[in-house]
Amino acid sequence: MSSLTLADVYAARRRIEGRVTRTPLIESAALSRIAGTSVYLKLETMQPTGSFKLRGATNALVGLAERGHGRVVTASTGNHGRAVAHAARALGMQAVVCMSALVPRNKVEAIDALGARVVIVGNSQDDAQVEALRLVREEGFVFVPPFDDMDVIAGQATIGVEIMESLPDTAAIVVPLSGGGLFSGVAFAAKRIRDDIAMIGVTMERGATMHASLAAGRPVLVDEVETLADSLGGGIGLDNRHTFALTQSLADNVVLLDEASIARGIVFAYREERLVMEGAAAVGIAAMLDGRIDVKRGPVVLVISGANIDMNLHRRLIQEA
Ligand SMILES: *Cc1c(COP(=O)(O)O)cnc(C)c1O
Repeated sequence: MSSLTLADVYAARRRIEGRVTRTPLIESAALSRIAGTSVYLKLETMQPTGSFKLRGATNALVGLAERGHGRVVTASTGNHGRAVAHAARALGMQAVVCMSALVPRNKVEAIDALGARVVIVGNSQDDAQVEALRLVREEGFVFVPPFDDMDVIAGQATIGVEIMESLPDTAAIVVPLSGGGLFSGVAFAAKRIRDDIAMIGVTMERGATMHASLAAGRPVLVDEVETLADSLGGGIGLDNRHTFALTQSLADNVVLLDEASIARGIVFAYREERLVMEGAAAVGIAAMLDGRIDVKRGPVVLVISGANIDMNLHRRLIQEA
């Protein structure tokens, strides 16, 4: 593992400045009342692509552009794919997003609308990944990984810097956890700035690869299942280079939530704060509501990672609650 430094994080901040939003940090009166200490929300839902992934992707792409690369590829159809497409367009780079024929039409259109070239191959995400790697090998594209990459991690880490600048006495930060790029970055920056901060990862019970890997002491495979926190699905890579070790060394606790709890988080955010957030982003709120975050003192900051929930699903959850 090549090592990350706080200087890398500040360099990332300078690179992405003006290209991503410095997001608001707002107090949630409702959560503060319930928790008995002040609870703040860091609203990455307000990034132009609706998630924090724009930070890491922008930092990686600015770095590539500086080194003379103009063509990037990814196989992510979710928030990372959107972020790469958006950042590439802003930088005048060519982006290709490989996806399988099974990816729903609206996702294809969303990526297409951001100016990326969509290549449809095969019937699985693995087939899409194979095509992306072929473009790297044979056509000189650079692959932009969704989390296990130092430039991506440094980009996500800028959230930690912003939190510590806005609220220097932060006692704990709660972060949605999947591949661990977001967690590693935020935890690294925050703990380098003040080492007594508690860093808590939250993820879903169903298909929590990083949690299973931490328990096993090495990266493992976990079956992917459907969850309301769809942006938290997927593996961490058996050959994980950075985020497993960083998460292992920086996490004070990892909390697992069931689907009903995640739904309550989404509904609470809408009812109490008038915020629309996807399942992956609502896990911190859900964990607070379930009393799973040990808050002896505040302030506690919840990273609200993204807004990109299917609106029909959102409406159904609100109506059924
Ligand atoms: C990608 C993503 C996450 C998890 O980030 P990792 O770096 O993979 O841990 C959390 N929330 C949202 C909305 C995401 O898009």
